[in-house]
Amino acid sequence: MRIAVIGGGINGLASAWQLALAGHQVELFERDALMQATSAASSKLLHGGLRYLEQGELRLVHEALQERRWWIKKVPHLTRRLPILYPIYRDGRRPRWQLKIGLWLYDFLSARKGIGRHRWLNADQTLRCSPDLKAEGLRGAFLFFDGQMQDQQLGLWVAAQAEKQGVVIHQHCPVQAVTASAGVQLQGESEWRQFDRLINVAGPWSNQLLEQSGLPVQQSLDLVRGSHLLLPPVGRYGHMLEVPGETRIVFVLPYQGLTLLGTTEVRQTLAEPIACSAAERVYLLDLYNHYFKTPRINTDILREFAGVRPLLGGSDQASTASREYSMHWQQQLLTVTGGKWTTARALAKQVVAQVAQSG
Ligand SMILES: Cc1cc2nc3c(=O)[nH]c(=O)nc-3n(C[C@H](O)[C@H](O)[C@H](O)COP(=O)(O)OP(=O)(O)OC[C@H]3O[C@@H](n4cnc5c(N)ncnc54)[C@H](O)[C@@H]3O)c2cc1C
Repeated sequence: MRIAVIGGGINGLASAWQLALAGHQVELFERDALMQATSAASSKLLHGGLRYLEQGELRLVHEALQERRWWIKKVPHLTRRLPILYPIYRDGRRPRWQLKIGLWLYDFLSARKGIGRHRWLNADQTLRCSPDLKAEGLRGAFLFFDGQMQDQQLGLWVAAQAEKQGVVIHQHCPVQAVTASAGVQLQGESEWRQFDRLINVAGPWSNQLLEQSGLPVQQSLDLVRGSHLLLPPVGRYGHMLEVPGETRIVFVLPYQGLTLLGTTEVRQTLAEPIACSAAERVYLLDLYNHYFKTPRINTDILREFAGVRPLLGGSDQASTASREYSMHWQQQLLTVTGGKWTTARALAKQVVAQVAQSG
């Protein structure tokens, strides 16, 4: 079949790649350059998502853990195994036994695709791993493992695989409108291009594209900005930290010789700029200074970036909103919403299955 894919983020690229592998003739349209939006603004984790276990998202965590291993094994030059500490303090929100169960389940769901089992470190051992952590009230930490990636480069690696399979990629080619019968109109062109199937994987913009085409929106999206700061290095271990007084967690991770601190959750519209606000900077630095001895201030920020999560709509709180993905057909047009970076290849295989069933 002749298939058009709209969106050059990780989900669009992975979909185009997998569709071409299944024998389809694929063209991908990206409004800007490839891999410059949400997919380049992630926390850089290839992870199952330990905290999604609290929401009972076993299917998603299981799938993401299998995918985590796949990326690390297949693309070792752009990924790595990252040791992460979850420190437990006297006034912490989650008791040690609860985390122990969660981490046991995390290891269990990884099954043979595991990348290292968790273990408990006492306070001295924890401080040896991460000497800048505050010692007062520290009971110890769980050490566990996840994957880390160079998200933008890894996405471009996927683009190269797609091109090897014959995908034709059009960059700087905004799609103005689509039809349910798989017609595509590019900005500045009056002619419509006709395909057999159309896959709308425009991330946070997928519903906007439907609306500007006069088509109904089938899956509502919650658009939630997440910002990150890059700070001077703090060590070679990652940290998963509870935000005091909230159920949220924030990561402090070694990344390319620096420290990546994030993220936040701020609802926004697509009309607002996707940028870290002054309030988010304060929130993140406060959290950092709560846990680490060497204080960091605004002038320590070396770089910052933000992205908008396209979360499936309907949840009151962004941190408990599902990270699942969903797919809806309107005649020959499939709109894909939601999903994690880690699960992009699994999502793409679902797109291939959907296309096969539709024919
Ligand atoms: C702060 C934050 C941290 C995250 N951390 C992680 C993490 O650590 N691990 C993880 O697994 N996941 C993480 N995620 C989730 C993950 O980044 C996203 O789920 C994923 O990147 C979404 O990819 P996408 O391809 O759907 O969207 P995008 O990357 O946004 O791609 C959509 C593309 O569509 C293009 N487009 C839009 N409209 C049009 C149009 N009309 N015509 C042509 N092109 C168009 C856009 O320009 C864009 O390039 C995080 C997300 C955020 C926001």
